[in-house]
Amino acid sequence: MNRPFANLETVIWSDPAGRGIAPLCRAGELERAARALPSARRVAIVTGFFIPAAGAPETDGPPGALALGRALEALGIPVEYWTDRPCVAVLDQGGLAPLHVYGEEALAPEVTHLIAIERPGRAADGRYYSMRGADLTPHVEPLDSLFGDGKPAGAVTIGIGDGGNEVGMGKVRPAVITGIARGATIASVVAADHLIVAGTSNWGAWGLVAGLSLLSEMDLLPDEERARRDLERLLAAGAVDGVTGRSAPTVDGLAWPVHAALLAALREATARP
Ligand code: MG
Ligand code: MG
Repeated sequence: MNRPFANLETVIWSDPAGRGIAPLCRAGELERAARALPSARRVAIVTGFFIPAAGAPETDGPPGALALGRALEALGIPVEYWTDRPCVAVLDQGGLAPLHVYGEEALAPEVTHLIAIERPGRAADGRYYSMRGADLTPHVEPLDSLFGDGKPAGAVTIGIGDGGNEVGMGKVRPAVITGIARGATIASVVAADHLIVAGTSNWGAWGLVAGLSLLSEMDLLPDEERARRDLERLLAAGAVDGVTGRSAPTVDGLAWPVHAALLAALREATARP
């Protein structure tokens, strides 16, 4: 396998929150996902994970979506963002544009690739669960159907997740069931052609951007300032940390310096010798 891509996977698989993602990680997925993208005509990026206790979406997902969307646009590939009604107000104010709402609009016919970043994927019983096993179904619209029955013919799908309950994890469902707490309940059945697992889903998206940087020989990663501003804007719009439920510059309970260090490590791994 290509060594620079293996290095990127090593970076994004770091698991400082102790989520236990190792059984879900598959070498080579990041490279295959990155190599699938440059031929895209138009990409739909799907994100937004609603936290019922806070009445708002979480800070994992949308920042990664913004970074990935900008990288694709820098490569000349048009992007559209998708979420559902519970998340739309915050993501719209958070800067995701153009933003479309499931159930109200249709996917552009030119979309050839779909990427889900930290988006709930239904479990075997058809319901949506948090990592803790809470039933989120009343707060989730079936946007994951775009990766299943509602998938455009011939579309390439990529899932990015960090827990086992997200779109794409159907690809490693047996490992979620045996390797993740409450896996038998929460494991999503929704698979993707390529599955990127990471310590937080934003890191998986950044890792994919780093992969596109390797392929294009362009520096497509956000600098730390930009990434921090994306997070601050989402917080100002009402997003909360998905683990703590608080409005603070954290993602999955991890303070900003952890995320800044991850971004720096990815940049270093894409630097030309
Ligand atoms: Mg997650
Ligand atoms: Mg997360």
